[in-house]
Amino acid sequence: NVRVRFCPSPTGNPHVGLVRTALFNWAFARHNEGTLVFRIEDTDAARDSEESYGQLLDAMRWLGFDWDEGPEIGGPHAPYRQSQRMDLYKDVAQKLLDAGHAYHCYCTTEELDARRDAARAAGKPSGYDGHCRDLSAEQKAAYEAEGRTSIVRFRMPDDTITFTDLVRGEITYLPENVPDYGIVRANGAPLYTLVNPVDDALMEITHVLRGEDLLSSTPRQIALYKALTELGIAKEIPAFGHLPYVMGEGNKKLSKRDPESSLNLYRERGFLPEGLLNYLSLLGWSLSADRDIFGIDEMVAAFEVTDVNPNPARFDLKKAESINGDHIRLLDVKDFTERCAPWLKAPFAPWAPEDFDEAKWQTIAPYAQSRLKVLSEITDNVDFLFLPEPAHDEASWTKAMKEGSDALLRTAREKLDTADWSSPEALKEAVLAAGEEHGLKLGKAQAPVRVAVTGRTVGLPLFESLQILGKETALARVDAALT
Ligand code: GLU
Repeated sequence: NVRVRFCPSPTGNPHVGLVRTALFNWAFARHNEGTLVFRIEDTDAARDSEESYGQLLDAMRWLGFDWDEGPEIGGPHAPYRQSQRMDLYKDVAQKLLDAGHAYHCYCTTEELDARRDAARAAGKPSGYDGHCRDLSAEQKAAYEAEGRTSIVRFRMPDDTITFTDLVRGEITYLPENVPDYGIVRANGAPLYTLVNPVDDALMEITHVLRGEDLLSSTPRQIALYKALTELGIAKEIPAFGHLPYVMGEGNKKLSKRDPESSLNLYRERGFLPEGLLNYLSLLGWSLSADRDIFGIDEMVAAFEVTDVNPNPARFDLKKAESINGDHIRLLDVKDFTERCAPWLKAPFAPWAPEDFDEAKWQTIAPYAQSRLKVLSEITDNVDFLFLPEPAHDEASWTKAMKEGSDALLRTAREKLDTADWSSPEALKEAVLAAGEEHGLKLGKAQAPVRVAVTGRTVGLPLFESLQILGKETALARVDAALT
């Protein structure tokens, strides 16, 4: 039975790297009909916050993930928030100490720094040197008499550690590169290095899929796991798979601090969860060489972690938007109009709520659906229908109203006035004919009309837009532009 976990720390806003990790774990669990455990790693009181915890849950739900055990729903290994499991960790730490797998280390930061610098200068490995590994009872008593505090350190075995990463293949660590490490702070607070593998053991996790940034902690965790197995706390060592880094602008690792890494940004821009998930799935994985657009069910059906590409994945916002646009196209119109709703209201919509016209919106929606990349674009695309005056941005105006536009607009107005407004094609003929009189092709001739009526140089198909707005308003706007 496959058991995987998603175990974020609630620090700051959820970011896309985290979502990619959640997605791959979720897809892996569902593909294998396994169990997804959602665990909150909130042992760092200084950095964790309740607000961030709330955002994490909210984000997971917005994305459409479900979990089989975790906060809010409980499960056989509850509680699923580490802050509520402190006694368990204390107990395990004591067992490790008793069995000699861990020891008290009395070295001060200054001493550690000095010895590390000396080791570096001598060209030797600069990790912890094992100073307190085998202190006698007298030495310990002497340190304690000095008033020193101690941390608990895990005793790494002296042999090499080899494991087969599900994504990267065989990886070997030499013992000199994995020194003994702290698992409990001097104040008694257990560290990530302890609580993460202990919970994986207690929760019987079979596969650990997580970011490459955690690869260096894996040999330590495997060693700890072996000790836990010996103590009867762990059943078997899980398989590990490390997902590739995500690179942002300038081929630098995408960091939590980069604005484009914030999940909230994608929600506000109007990404569909399915569009975002489709894009994020491509960060290290693909369905097939010739298909970028697919639904989450197809991903679940095909997902094998051994297919994940170990090379860094490049985050490309343009591609994300283009994929999202394709998912917008896949919605049925009713669904599309409903999902646009937040952007047709305050604080996004600049028009007065009573000026919103449901019928006009329903008529124009299909044209918008065939063009948008993200839902937030809807507001600017339809505001001309609901604002008393079109949005007027000076740059568009100057760009479209070149010399001769007045004359063109006058001719277009005459022809539009006598055209058949029940047919967008007839409106197009009118503008086309006006353009011909002034030696202008359709594209050039329609630009001033568009700006006069919608206030913008780009937008939804013009002649349908004119028709939906209505003859009277449209012509009044052309008149206003001419005065
Ligand atoms: N809480 C850890 C993090 O957010 C999880 C590490 C892991 O997946 O093992 O980085």
